[in-house]
Amino acid sequence: MLMSKTSSSLEKYKVKKQIEKLSKIRGYGTELISLYIPQTKKVSDVLNYLKQESSTAVNIKSKSTRKNVLSAIETVIQRLKLIPQATVKEKSMVFFCGAIPQNGQGTEKIEIYPIIPPRPINTFLYRCSAEFILDPLIESLKEEEIYGLLVLDRSEAAFATLDGSHLEIAKRITSGVHGKHSAGGQSARRFERIIEQQVHEFFVRTGEYANKIFLEFLENNSLKGIIIGGPGPSKEKFANGNYLDYRLQDKIIDIIDIGYSGEDGVRMLVKSEKVGNLLANVRYMEEKKLFQEFLKHLAKDTELAVYGEDEVRYYLEQGAVEKIFLSEALDIVRVTVSCPACGYQEEITAKKYKLAEIQSEIQSRNCPKCNSSSLSIQDIKELIEELGDLGEQTGAQVEILSTETEEGQELWQSFGGIAGILRYRIDS
Ligand SMILES: [Zn+2]
Repeated sequence: MLMSKTSSSLEKYKVKKQIEKLSKIRGYGTELISLYIPQTKKVSDVLNYLKQESSTAVNIKSKSTRKNVLSAIETVIQRLKLIPQATVKEKSMVFFCGAIPQNGQGTEKIEIYPIIPPRPINTFLYRCSAEFILDPLIESLKEEEIYGLLVLDRSEAAFATLDGSHLEIAKRITSGVHGKHSAGGQSARRFERIIEQQVHEFFVRTGEYANKIFLEFLENNSLKGIIIGGPGPSKEKFANGNYLDYRLQDKIIDIIDIGYSGEDGVRMLVKSEKVGNLLANVRYMEEKKLFQEFLKHLAKDTELAVYGEDEVRYYLEQGAVEKIFLSEALDIVRVTVSCPACGYQEEITAKKYKLAEIQSEIQSRNCPKCNSSSLSIQDIKELIEELGDLGEQTGAQVEILSTETEEGQELWQSFGGIAGILRYRIDS
């Protein structure tokens, strides 16, 4: 559930935010630990490795660095013991740990950040340095983009995958269908019917190969889209004829007229300017489509489109939200204020830049329940993460939209950056 395809924009957003935060941290000495554990590594081996590192760290000259490195290693060991092997095997695992200087207080505290990378990381890395090693994690945030290419006419079909800049021709098949009959009249019509039947059978076979080749990428979430090309009308007939598995059918991002069929056609397709632009903008197109659905509901007055924090939160809490759209531009946090004396708690939504103001406001008033003066901020969470988590917990599809598209701009400027589509209407 956590890493399901539909929630990936939220997961990525969270990791991005953590990277931003971690990149600003500098240790007092060479004492910040970065640990990357690939899927193939045994947790028990890593634990042994860390124990070894710990026994070496005893020799560090600076007393404070030695102390901090030893506590950081111990903290990682304790946390790693709680991580099941299955989690590492499925996603790989990253830890950042160290004595983090506390804001303006001149003190430091051991903090640990376990992170599941958006895409599994393949290399083992242990490093102790003055800053965290973030590059492999940043790398894993980049989209793994595999496109399925299918070029066909009625005589042949070629299947290929494009992964970054690497093109692989996966398969080529021919139909055995011949050209037009020369005779006219009755026999020509009969002949044409036979040809049509043969073409249909060829399309069925083409669909079966496409399913075999492309579905595995769809199932591991790396298939970004399918582009169909070729000369003549066959490609449209194929694309509109439900020859593909319905999940692949949904992945068709364009149908492009190209002068050749077969392998040559595939190469032409990749070189075409249209495909170049398309590939650069797939998430872009996806974001447009996603928010257009919301706008359609609004225009048709289906009463299923909701927006604004209060309204969306209300329906999220009822479990009635099917899709939630959050603008990446949202600069709002959710602050949890609590009273350690009596357990009183309240939550405040505020612009990030107002945090200092809120801090002093809280210090200046007493707890409304027990009247003690110990109210304090317990937690500060990005509103995107808070609403996103709420969405995930209630089965909503969570989509973080950039402001790159017109639709994303509209979400941000006209709807306050928070919108949703309901599964069903309930009266508030
Ligand atoms: Zn209280």
